[in-house]
Amino acid sequence: MTTNIPLVDLAAQHAQVADEVAAGWADILSRTAFVGGPAVAAFEAAYAEFVGTAHCVGVGNGTDAIELALRALGTGPGDECIVPANTFIATAEAVARTGATTVLVDCVDDTALIDPVAAGKAVTDRTKAVLPVHLYGQAAEVELLAEHLPDSVAIVEDAAQSQGALRHGKPAGSLGRIAATSFYPGKNLGAYGDAGAVVTSDEELATAVRLLSAHGSPRKYEHSTLGFNSRLDAIQAVVLSAKLRRLAGWNAARRAAADRYAALLAGVDGVRLPVVAPGNEPVWHLYVVRVAERDRVLAALNAAGIGAGIHYPTPVHLTGAFAGLGLGPGSFPVAEAMAGEILSLPLFAEITPAQQERVVEVLAGAVQA
Ligand SMILES: *Cc1c(COP(=O)(O)O)cnc(C)c1O
Repeated sequence: MTTNIPLVDLAAQHAQVADEVAAGWADILSRTAFVGGPAVAAFEAAYAEFVGTAHCVGVGNGTDAIELALRALGTGPGDECIVPANTFIATAEAVARTGATTVLVDCVDDTALIDPVAAGKAVTDRTKAVLPVHLYGQAAEVELLAEHLPDSVAIVEDAAQSQGALRHGKPAGSLGRIAATSFYPGKNLGAYGDAGAVVTSDEELATAVRLLSAHGSPRKYEHSTLGFNSRLDAIQAVVLSAKLRRLAGWNAARRAAADRYAALLAGVDGVRLPVVAPGNEPVWHLYVVRVAERDRVLAALNAAGIGAGIHYPTPVHLTGAFAGLGLGPGSFPVAEAMAGEILSLPLFAEITPAQQERVVEVLAGAVQA
């Protein structure tokens, strides 16, 4: 008898922080400080230190974090922002919500990261920002990207999948002007609901994000600009602080699991392994292989109780939400080809060698069928 293997096992993670979270929540309840307050400030300070930026502003979710980072830069109608076509829709959605135009570009075939040359070619005199996405837990090649951009174009990192990832020894989130991250439950650092943050070492931008995130209010009863309500809840900050202390260990366990998959899959024909760009130390938010006949292989894994998935089945330009861009099939050949082949295998810090061997056994059987 075999038991199911989930894509992500949040219960295994919760067990490790349960006592700390319960004690922290009891404290919040006794003080009834639910939004902001000392628990949020403590997490913001700890996360800024973790990323190596001067500032961290906790916000409501990762999508808001991207939008607020862009708005802090003054992004709005008439501006253009460059986004990879193969990302979670939120990256493009946040751009569109500022009123700016989403300009999509293709990715590099082996790493699936934004193509720096394509991004450079997409720059116009309206370009406000480029949003490299540190996809699957590996940092985009931000310094190569910068070589193709004029100084006036800001690099806004989408660091939702890369908490703890390093590029040439520097943490993801500290590589551009400003970065947004998500603490959605399934991320490497996950809250117990929606949460996100903006990090930057630019004090003016940090101040602008904080202002926008709290009703444009620098102090009580004063509203100097039109803002939003997107703040970090204290109960989420308690969870995030407890998990942040363990994140390096969990990321190391993910690396070991990724190495184990690579070793187990080395002799399996027909499975393309993920490629790490030189200079990167990824945190393996997802372990994404590529196979022919992906849907058949995925169905075989799912039928065997293995929670494999697809991140993401539809490139941004082929979604209904962005049909208005008028970019049909063939616009981004690399992203489109990838979308038909990618397969995310179960990966989480607590996955066991036996579970991984089972995944590989079923995968190999399906690929060679
Ligand atoms: C999760 C994610 C987001 C959005 O985060 P939410 O907290 O769900 O709003 C943005 N970009 C990427 C790449 C993500 O994976």
